[in-house]
Amino acid sequence: MKYIVVTGGVVSGIGKGVAAASIAKLIQTNYDLKVMPIKCDGYLNVDPGTMNPIEHGEVFVMDDGGEVDMDFGHYERFLNITTKFSWNLTMGKILSRIIEKEREGKFLGKTIQFIPHVTNEILENFIRLPEKENADICVIEIGGTIGDLENAFYVEAVRQLQMKFGKDNVIFIHLTYVPMLSNVGEQKSKPTQQSVHLLMEAGIFPDFILGRAKDPLSSAIKEKIGMYSNLDDEHIISAPDVSNIYDIPINFAKEHLDKKIGAKLKLTGYKDKMNLWKDLLNKMKTAKIKKKILIAGKYTTLHDSYASVIESINHASAHLSIKPEIVWLDTSELTYEQAKTKLKGIDAIIVPGGFGSRGTEGKINVIRYVRENNIPFLGLCFGLQLATIEFARNVCGLKDANSTEINPETKNPIIDILPEQKNIDKKGATMRLGSQLANLKPNSLACKLYGCCDVSERHRHRYEVNPEYHKILEDAGLILSGKSPNGKLVEYIELPQDQHKYFIATQAHPELKSKFEQPNPLFYGLLKATLE
Ligand code: GLN
Repeated sequence: MKYIVVTGGVVSGIGKGVAAASIAKLIQTNYDLKVMPIKCDGYLNVDPGTMNPIEHGEVFVMDDGGEVDMDFGHYERFLNITTKFSWNLTMGKILSRIIEKEREGKFLGKTIQFIPHVTNEILENFIRLPEKENADICVIEIGGTIGDLENAFYVEAVRQLQMKFGKDNVIFIHLTYVPMLSNVGEQKSKPTQQSVHLLMEAGIFPDFILGRAKDPLSSAIKEKIGMYSNLDDEHIISAPDVSNIYDIPINFAKEHLDKKIGAKLKLTGYKDKMNLWKDLLNKMKTAKIKKKILIAGKYTTLHDSYASVIESINHASAHLSIKPEIVWLDTSELTYEQAKTKLKGIDAIIVPGGFGSRGTEGKINVIRYVRENNIPFLGLCFGLQLATIEFARNVCGLKDANSTEINPETKNPIIDILPEQKNIDKKGATMRLGSQLANLKPNSLACKLYGCCDVSERHRHRYEVNPEYHKILEDAGLILSGKSPNGKLVEYIELPQDQHKYFIATQAHPELKSKFEQPNPLFYGLLKATLE
């Protein structure tokens, strides 16, 4: 087993997850190896499922129903793999496991301590998880910044990992920030020196330093950073700002980072096989057809809350040579008349997932406008629920139709809580989560888009289209084009293809399965509809 450990220095938010995913991609593709990630988070939440997306970015949902850090989205999108809940270690998970073991009497007679018990628990995961997957390479990404107390036990565990498996099998890559001081006009190495010192104090000697900076690192700064890190400048790699994250693996490859990692880990069989990636990147950069895609959401202040939706638009656009412009619309207090003005010149609209009542009337107004005006529309989860409410109100004539999540007293609960959710009080990992099957109607738009009638997408919800209203909706012309295999739960709705050029919504989150090299069919269809 070989490991690539990625740590961060100086400040957070410099793209450690994307950098780690880029490295993983290069090694996976150019050495033809099975690569898996483990992400270590220092917080005490068992998972980020109960965190506010404004604070933490999007909650990424896995096939197995795990709710995890959004960095897993980068790994899946870059590596075309399906990740697992167990690959996200959190201090919440680690500590609860230790306390559970202590209560079971697994440590009888012992005093349980952070070292060795916490570090051993972490180390045991580092070894067992990749073994179970038969992975060739495990990329371990440690959250936060070196020096953070809450991540110190992960750092100690990776030090021991290298002791155990040796320097040919465990390497350390440190991503730091290299500021450019405008008054002196030069890149500064001091923060990096200090963060490398902290690493070394913890017994970790980096094999590579990646310098995040506005521009590529100058040779002078590489030499300086190298000297303080016991590295020659070949092992100091630039990680300049990019406008397109899919450039990052290519930028690293330009400095031969993949070959240099291969040399350290004694990997053989290097061949540059990033052709598809480079072609797509080229299509993205040369795309001339501009399209405006509007996302009507509540968390529009932090775009990371919709990371997978944004990337899904980018993936589909790249394959269609479209240059997308994403337009954000906060729908709180948006009237129908205002919606009309705001939607002028927009080519397609997405109403993404969401919770609670704020902004819902505005979204319903947006949906009414796109339905009446033949604008391509894709509804995701809450988006399906709101599109159904809009249809019930304005086509079926049920003026007070609503979701019981929004108005518990509504006379027409078109959207209601799932029966199995009624008696659940606990909030952690209790929604209907993860991969769920759906059967699509033959010849429906959904079936055409997927190219088959049995599909599976990931879910995260508590409410559903109320079965008592299925017939009323269908009689009024809404196509319930996909249902759960037991026929009870609406998974896809759409308008007839001769009435609307593209109006489809799903109870799922298809954005979670879109990959750069394989866009999701619903997003591909949406973007394609803008060309017609
Ligand atoms: N709030 C809705 C529900 O719980 C939709 C959830 C979502 O969009 N993820 O069913």
